[in-house]
Amino acid sequence: MKKIHWDEGLSIGDPGLDGEHRQLISLLNRLIDLIDEAPDAEQVHRILDELEQLATAHSRHEEMLSATAGEDFKEEQRREHSDFLSAIIEARSQLRSDDLGGALIDVTESLVKLLINHIIDQDLDLAPLLAEREVKNHSLAEFLVLKFQKLSFVRGLEMLVVISLLPMLIFAGMIMYQSWQEAVGAGDVAQLASFSQGVGNLAHELQKERGLSAGLLTSDDPAFKAALKLQRSRSDRELEIFRVNQEAQKQEGRLAQIGNLATKVAVRMEALERYRNQVDQRSLSSQDSFEGFTGLIAELIGLTNQIAIISRRQGAYELFQANNILIQFAEMGGRERAVVSAALGRGAFTRQEYRQLVSLVSEQESLERQFYSFLSDEQRVQLRSHYAVDEVTSYRRLSDYALEHGSGDGVVSIDSFTWFKVATQRINLISEFQQQLINQLLDEMGRQRSLSTITFMATVFGGGAMVLLIGFVALQLARSIRLPILSLTDGMRALTADDKSYRIPFAKRKDELGDMVQAYETFRRKLIRTDMLTMGEQLGPLAVSRHVLALKRSTAEGEEYKRLASIDSLTGVINRREFMKRAKMEVARRLRHQGELSVMLLDVDYFKQVNDNHGHPAGDRVLKFVAQAIVSALREEDILGRIGGEEFAVLLPSTDEPSAGATAERVRSAIENLRIQVGETEIMVTISIGISGFAAGDVSIEPAMVRADRALYQAKEQGRNRVCTQPVPELMLV
Ligand code: GH3
Ligand code: MG
Ligand code: MG
Repeated sequence: MKKIHWDEGLSIGDPGLDGEHRQLISLLNRLIDLIDEAPDAEQVHRILDELEQLATAHSRHEEMLSATAGEDFKEEQRREHSDFLSAIIEARSQLRSDDLGGALIDVTESLVKLLINHIIDQDLDLAPLLAEREVKNHSLAEFLVLKFQKLSFVRGLEMLVVISLLPMLIFAGMIMYQSWQEAVGAGDVAQLASFSQGVGNLAHELQKERGLSAGLLTSDDPAFKAALKLQRSRSDRELEIFRVNQEAQKQEGRLAQIGNLATKVAVRMEALERYRNQVDQRSLSSQDSFEGFTGLIAELIGLTNQIAIISRRQGAYELFQANNILIQFAEMGGRERAVVSAALGRGAFTRQEYRQLVSLVSEQESLERQFYSFLSDEQRVQLRSHYAVDEVTSYRRLSDYALEHGSGDGVVSIDSFTWFKVATQRINLISEFQQQLINQLLDEMGRQRSLSTITFMATVFGGGAMVLLIGFVALQLARSIRLPILSLTDGMRALTADDKSYRIPFAKRKDELGDMVQAYETFRRKLIRTDMLTMGEQLGPLAVSRHVLALKRSTAEGEEYKRLASIDSLTGVINRREFMKRAKMEVARRLRHQGELSVMLLDVDYFKQVNDNHGHPAGDRVLKFVAQAIVSALREEDILGRIGGEEFAVLLPSTDEPSAGATAERVRSAIENLRIQVGETEIMVTISIGISGFAAGDVSIEPAMVRADRALYQAKEQGRNRVCTQPVPELMLV
């Protein structure tokens, strides 16, 4: 039997386990050595003991390491380990038979097969597990790779695409949300601005009405009466607009707060009608009328203040504040107008009026300063050009005059209506500018709104199209990786099923996948070559093919390992165990049909010398050719087996002793004429053959084998290279 060599392909990657496997193999090699030497039972048992010890420890070690493997795997692992251990125990009882050599061959063969098959089919599956165990503690990146390996390959590629698109989607969503918010915010500000404008207008009209009412109450100038009538209808129109706006504002979802405030203000405005009646009946002092109107106007200014606070938005806040200050500024101007009008109507300032005038003038100065701080340079220039006009100059002149002459008991001689007109013109200028500011704000908000809408649309359509396009391209990229890999998988699967016809249609790739396809192709061709060439060598002369074919046919249904288990790998003929099985079957058949059956034992002469002179490999080659030569001399139904190192046996069904003798002679001379080329030299060998027929009383093959062995011994004794026959004992007829 040939020794087994450690192949690095059997390595699992764990030095401990690999070392134990090597030890097990070397123990089995020691058994193999014993086969060819004269086997010594005690030595064999000692090796078996060692084997059992090592195998037990090794099993435990392996089962510990496979703890993380699946249940099925662990179960299979345990089963095979206990199989191996039982095989050792069984081996001990088998070795008790008379034929120690034969039993040792059987035992060793089955142990080798169990061990090698176990390492290949089971233990090699541990390699990735052990590798994983090492990776586990390394880094987050490797940990993730391990986790993702649980995904299917295709799913992984798809996830890759989605994950890389995700930030883009989130980003686009953020931009969309942002621009949407901006559009909505700009809409809100515009809405508030136009509401605030209405409130400002109403306040402005009420200021005028307040001035005219004061004029009416203090002077007899009929111009006041006519102007007041006209002014009241203007105030009413603005009040009506205010009420409508306030109702609408109350309905606004997010800005209803302002609407609710406005409703309260609207209720207070109902007092206006009362003041007017009292003014008409002159049942109100000019001071009380002034304060009544001022209260109403203060409500409105409070409302615009609230609007400014609510619309704290970039760009809008300053404008609202400026607007608000302008309204207050106009209001101070309005109060000044009322106070001065009343005083002029009477022809002199009271002490209290004068104090009011001074404080109103200084308040206006401070508001003007505040106001400038909220304006941009451009707006400041605008205001100056708007304000540097005759109306303002004459107002200042008259105001200064009033201030100069109003203190003490001085009488002022401007008529109150002239003063009123000048002051009103100035307030109108302020109000106009305030309208301009609001319009600017509305323009700005409209611009912002359409800009945000454009951004929103661009993100929706542009971003969407980009995501779709990138997604599409990425999926195709994934497909271009996936297809060759799927195809490679199919190819490898085909190879394991012995189908070497699968070709991969991605040979042109110049990348790693291309290399893989190339490697697959090389491997496929190598397999084809090996198959073709080794088959030729094994078959040798065509005559052998009949036998190999028959053997193949008979085992075609059986599994591959069964075929290997029954065939001697060196010569390609059946091994000892299989031969004995066939012999049993032939004996049974003979007993049923009473046919003839002969047995032939063959032993190469001086074979030791072949090994000694030419080396062991040459000896192997000789054995191969000897086996082929024997097969060529036999009939198809004859059964040839290799039952020992250089010993063969043949079963000859339906053959009596003389015919068997003729066949044996044919074999002998075929071997004698065989020239076996080994390198430069030609080797010649001879063979000795012992024959025996089957005795009438035989119920097993053994007696015939024993007789044939005796005949073989005779042939050796008589000088070798000859055929000897042991006669079949006559059945004793008593
Ligand atoms: P004899 O004529 O008495 O049979 O002499 P022999 O040299 O053949 O004697 P023996 O049967 O003792 O020797 C058999 C030798 O065959 C011993 C062993 O080394 C060798 N042998 C057994 N199996 C193989 C094998 O598979 N290959 C090779 N090359 N040699 C083998
Ligand atoms: Mg021999
Ligand atoms: Mg021998």
